[in-house]
Amino acid sequence: MGNFEFKKKFGQNFLTDETLLDDIVEKAGVTSDDIIVEIGAGKGALTQALSKVAKKVYSFEIDKDLFGYLETKFFGTNVEFVFEDVMNYSDDKLNKLIGGNFKLVANLPYYVTSPIITRFLKNKNMQSLTVMVQEEVADRIIASPKNKSYGVLSIICQIYGTPSKVLRVGREMFMPVPNVDSAVVRIDCEKNYDIINYDKFIKFIKKAFSMRRKKLSTNLETHGIAKTEVEKILSQNDFSTTIRAEELTINDFIKLYQIFYDKIS
Ligand code: SAM
Repeated sequence: MGNFEFKKKFGQNFLTDETLLDDIVEKAGVTSDDIIVEIGAGKGALTQALSKVAKKVYSFEIDKDLFGYLETKFFGTNVEFVFEDVMNYSDDKLNKLIGGNFKLVANLPYYVTSPIITRFLKNKNMQSLTVMVQEEVADRIIASPKNKSYGVLSIICQIYGTPSKVLRVGREMFMPVPNVDSAVVRIDCEKNYDIINYDKFIKFIKKAFSMRRKKLSTNLETHGIAKTEVEKILSQNDFSTTIRAEELTINDFIKLYQIFYDKIS
């Protein structure tokens, strides 16, 4: 593996510090009963730390150049690799492969962080998600209303649980060293909002935030709902007619989503 060339396009920044890797596994609450899904094995540093504690680890890796190295290193262990782009691997296939509940633990490739989080959070078999992301993304995930980082990603991550930043990780811990610091975020999926259709709800909040500084009524109007109607509904439900999306809590969004349900296309 001496002449391995890091591929920027795959977000390859690897970890090596064993203490840090064990700390991530601990913060993720991994036990010997757990089935883990890891996204992006890299050279298998986090995979190894997970494999020491978990019952079984399924690890995805897009870069087939790592195949020989990883298969040799983990031969005969509780780790099974899937050399595919996780975003092209369907939920049906994933659920069949794993056969039950799992915890997601990953040092995510930065270029696909939001799509991976968004996609996995709607998998009902996922018990928790613990991911290393750029610190600015971690701040968006945990942000509250009226905070400048609060937006679509905060709401997506707060539908099923309360995310928390469990670890800060300086850039010097990675190889190669990236331009920004990172943080580990954990979300336990304890809430169950079966009342919402996840995809439709996300569509609605994306519309609500489409122009951040504009009023909610303006944003919804540009997406086909008459402004006067929006204003009427807002005041009937005790919201200010000039309210902006960034001022609304998750519960406000759920309430408005239910009211506007038939109008969301
Ligand atoms: N887990 C390793 C570690 O902590 O050192 C590597 C983390 S590195 C930030 C992200 C890894 O994800 C890379 O090895 C990259 O090749 C892989 N990757 C990138 N996009 C992927 C995708 N769509 N599906 C599966 N793996 C992917």
